[in-house]
Amino acid sequence: MTVGGKPFILKNGVKDIIDALEKVIKSNKGEILTKTPARRIIIEDGAVRGVVAEREGERLEIEAKVVISNAGPKKTIELGGEDNFDRAYLKEAREKVRAAAGIDYMITTDRPLLEPSTVLFTADTQRLECFMSERTSDGKYILRTASVPESTILYSPKKEYEIFLQDLKETFPDFERCGGRILIARNFYGDWPFYRTWPGDCIGTKTSVENLYNVGDGVIPEGWVGGSGAAESARVVVEDVQARTKLG
Ligand SMILES: Cc1cc2nc3c(=O)[nH]c(=O)nc-3n(C[C@H](O)[C@H](O)[C@H](O)COP(=O)(O)OP(=O)(O)OC[C@H]3O[C@@H](n4cnc5c(N)ncnc54)[C@H](O)[C@@H]3O)c2cc1C
Repeated sequence: MTVGGKPFILKNGVKDIIDALEKVIKSNKGEILTKTPARRIIIEDGAVRGVVAEREGERLEIEAKVVISNAGPKKTIELGGEDNFDRAYLKEAREKVRAAAGIDYMITTDRPLLEPSTVLFTADTQRLECFMSERTSDGKYILRTASVPESTILYSPKKEYEIFLQDLKETFPDFERCGGRILIARNFYGDWPFYRTWPGDCIGTKTSVENLYNVGDGVIPEGWVGGSGAAESARVVVEDVQARTKLG
């Protein structure tokens, strides 16, 4: 993965991040409920009161002084009910929360185009900027890359795919001779985006409801992007909650 534009290799993949988070939560007597989607955020008199979730088909109501949503600002508004947010906040969310599109690719070859476990950065391609290589246990070679279009508004997955093929063949003229095949091309956009909003001009982490916050890539602080930006938004929220709220 890339973090803040630099390649960053986690020994056990994203699991390392999840494990570290779990350790912090549990060591502070927190509880993690998986397979428990939030169905409603409870808001009364302009302040958050808790969450209604669904666990094994049962309704589960959790009281809370503070609710931090990682579902993205649009979903948070939906869960809290539009009528509970002020108009200026809803307007800002409508204007600033704009999903960013992108496509990621997995390519296989019989012979290596790059040394396994290396990253190639390209400066002269139209879209692709980084290829990461791996070798599978059955002796195949995998390349992973992703492309973000020039414009999400004028986004055409078909055109992006054609540009991807040009970039690929220019970067690796031996692609076909090495038995190259494109295994996966996944198109992320709309409600399943690459980023929940365009980095650079996001809505803030605080909502108009007291003690209801958003974190994640829909509320990235200026100067950040992607996963590291999502983490930075969480850091900002934790600081604010610690400064303003007496928990326990
Ligand atoms: C193919 C691809 C490659 C990428 N590569 C990179 C990269 O190399 N570097 C980088 O920095 N960024 C990358 N990104 C972007 C990065 O993955 C995202 O910006 C980041 O994951 C956003 O994190 P998040 O926590 O905000 O959202 P998510 O990771 O989407 O997490 C949101 C979570 O909320 C949960 N959720 C939603 N609704 C509910 C509900 N009602 N109740 C309970 N839970 C709910 C979801 O299940 C999900 O687990 C990539 C994105 C894609 C698609």
